[in-house]
Amino acid sequence: MELYRIDEKGLAEAMARLIAEYRVVAPVEKGPRHVFDDIQDWSEARPLAVGTVLPPKKFVFPQRETLLRFQLTGEAPQAEAVVDDTPVVLAGVHPCDITGLRCIDHTLAGRYFDEHYGARRMNAIILGFDCMPDGHCFCSSVGSLKVESGFDLFFTPLQVGGYAVRVGTQRGRKLLEDYFTAAAPAGVYEESLEEDFRKRKAAAIRLSIDAPVGDLPGIYQQAMRSKVWEKWAEVCFSCGSCNLVCPTCYCFDVQDRVSLDGAEGRRERVWDSCMLAEFAEVAGGHNFRPTPSARLIHRHNRKFNYQQDRYGEPHCTGCGRCARACLVHIDMVTIANELIAEQRGEAS
Ligand code: SF4
Ligand code: SF4
Repeated sequence: MELYRIDEKGLAEAMARLIAEYRVVAPVEKGPRHVFDDIQDWSEARPLAVGTVLPPKKFVFPQRETLLRFQLTGEAPQAEAVVDDTPVVLAGVHPCDITGLRCIDHTLAGRYFDEHYGARRMNAIILGFDCMPDGHCFCSSVGSLKVESGFDLFFTPLQVGGYAVRVGTQRGRKLLEDYFTAAAPAGVYEESLEEDFRKRKAAAIRLSIDAPVGDLPGIYQQAMRSKVWEKWAEVCFSCGSCNLVCPTCYCFDVQDRVSLDGAEGRRERVWDSCMLAEFAEVAGGHNFRPTPSARLIHRHNRKFNYQQDRYGEPHCTGCGRCARACLVHIDMVTIANELIAEQRGEAS
């Protein structure tokens, strides 16, 4: 993979050129937290900030989006699909969130191709940035400490200043030529600095799952009746916050909004959450997951069992957002380690 180096000034100049031509979003400060938002100047961006409230997923899979507009007047109803393919530059996307987008691709842009998601996704330019963890990160336990693909360009901050820049796609190569004109070819020295950054990052991660990630599907399959679920279900509010902040969750509801005169309307897709009590309720009132423990089991198995079994990688990227969002401190690592300890016969 091609490697370049750019200094802060060259990066700022490149981003100014991009901002002049594209919608550019990046992590920005919002009170005590960071959120991905539109920027008008690169000085607003905090590309190394960890733990944005929502992942950049919201720009390719928005919280609420119109799927189609319809007219109910005339001889026959008319409907027209709404597909938004406006290009957007997502800057400051960390390895966990690049992995999160790949996880959603498995479902929405794989064997079944969702036209609405696919159009946004293909027109999202990904400028990845490496990062240092906070106390909730555990990407090293789930294989997303480092990414080899899923970005157009990837920037690693160097201890000596500036960034190493990896080129991930042909589009990234073109961006480099057209916008990042200050970037210079780099070599083994910059590679060693990249490696040094990742070693320091790995050493700074305080949380870890006590089993290899490949063992997790088997561990979760055996844990369906574990007491661990009941213990945590007793304090879970079923609020759904953990789903809504997750970079790999993609469940949605579809709702029709019709004008008061009944003449026209739109069909919308809105985020949904498997942790909400009514999520699995069907016609007739039967609920397939009526209890908080049933919902906890389902959510955690989606991350480390069902999806991992189907697509070959966990659908938890270790971003730590669910733990930051949960008011009662339910987190993926604690539950995983309690299940692992239980199966090893260790007291928890
Ligand atoms: S955020 Fe915490 S309390 Fe809310 S549903 Fe998720 S695990 Fe339960
Ligand atoms: S389950 Fe939690 S830690 Fe894992 S990717 Fe989702 S929000 Fe991040």
